[in-house]
Amino acid sequence: MNNTLGLYLHIPFCLRKCGYCDFYSVTDRTRTDAFVDSLCAQIRGAAQIAKEPVDTVFFGGGTPSLLSVKQLERVFCALTAFSIAPDAEISMEVNPATANEAAFRAYRALGVNRLSIGMQSASDRELKWLSRVHSAADTVKTVRELTRAGFDNFNLDLIYGLKEQTARDFEASVCAALELCPTHLSLYALTLSETVPLYAERARLSPDEVQETQYLRACERLREAGMAQYEISNFASPGFACAHNLKYWTRAPYLGFGPGASSFYSGRRFEIAPDLDAYCGKPPGLEELLERAPALSETDALTEELILALRLTRGIDARAYAGKLKDGRRFLSELDGLIPAGFAAETDGRVRLTQNGFLVSNEILARLLCAAGL
Ligand code: SF4
Repeated sequence: MNNTLGLYLHIPFCLRKCGYCDFYSVTDRTRTDAFVDSLCAQIRGAAQIAKEPVDTVFFGGGTPSLLSVKQLERVFCALTAFSIAPDAEISMEVNPATANEAAFRAYRALGVNRLSIGMQSASDRELKWLSRVHSAADTVKTVRELTRAGFDNFNLDLIYGLKEQTARDFEASVCAALELCPTHLSLYALTLSETVPLYAERARLSPDEVQETQYLRACERLREAGMAQYEISNFASPGFACAHNLKYWTRAPYLGFGPGASSFYSGRRFEIAPDLDAYCGKPPGLEELLERAPALSETDALTEELILALRLTRGIDARAYAGKLKDGRRFLSELDGLIPAGFAAETDGRVRLTQNGFLVSNEILARLLCAAGL
C-alpha cells in the first residue's frame, strides 16, 4: 500500500477562456489575493489531518503562472505544513507568454523542478482557432527562457484532431515540439463538451481515421526520438515519467486544493465546488469533505482499477486482478482473446493494450468490464 501523498493545487485564473476548455477557471483576476488566502488556509487545515509524507506537488489550472511570485511564496510557505520529501517532484503548468526568465528563476528558487507548458500546436492558425493567447513563437521563446533559468525537466502538451487538421499538420507540431528537447510530451485528442464555444464546430474536426493516423505517427516520431510511451497519452525520456500523474492512474492517494479540484483519499473521491466566490468565502475543510464523500464500493474500486491500469503501458497483473472477481475465468478469457487480435500483449503475467488497442480502448474496456461482471 502506497503511503505517500500527492498534492494538486488548482489555480483557477486564465487570461481568457480557450474555446475548447471546460476546466474551471475565471478571467477576472481581481481576487487572486483572496484566493491565495483561502488556498493557504485550506492547505494548513488539511495538513493537520493528512500526515503522510508528500512526494509530489502539482500546480495546475487555470494558469498557475498568473499568480505573482509573492503569492506563490505564500503558497509554498503554507505547503511546509505538510512533510514534503526533499526530492519531491514539484510541477507547475505554465502557458507560453505568461512567464519570463526572471519568473522561471523565482519558481526554481521556490522549489519547482518540473514545468508543463501548454504548447498545444506549432501552427498559429490552429492556435488562433483554439483561441489560445499565445503564438507558436511564444512557445519557443518560453522554452528558451525556462532553459536559461536552469529547468531541464519540462513537458509540452499537444492537441490533435483539430478543425481540418491533417496527419501531416499534426506531425509538424510533434516535430516542432521535439526540436525543443522536452523530457516529456502529452498528446491529447480534442474533445468538445456541449458547454464550450467550439462545440458548434464539432463536425469539422479531423475524422476518426485521420486522428488514428495522427496518433500512430506521433507515437512513431516519439519512439524514434527515444521517448517511451508509459500511458495512452503520455511519453517521456527514460526516468522522466510524471510521478504525480502516475498517482492518478495507480489509484495512489492525492489531495486537491482550490475550486474545482478533486481528491482521492482514504478510499473516497471528492471534489471542491467549482465556485471561486464560495471558495474565497470559506474553503471546505478536509474533515468536512471526507464526511460528505461515501467510501467507494468494491465494484467502483475494481472498475477504476481496470480502467486506469489499462491506460498504462505496464498494464495489469491479470491473474491477481481476476482473483478479486466473482468470475475471474470469464474475464481472463476475454482478456486473452485480445492478444491474438493484436489489441493486447502479455509480458510476465502483465497484460497491456498495444497502440492498436489504445485506439479502441473504450470498446475494449466495455467488453472487459462486462466479462468481469462489473
Ligand atoms: S489556458 Fe488552459 S485552463 Fe485556461 S482556458 Fe485555456 S485551456 Fe483552459
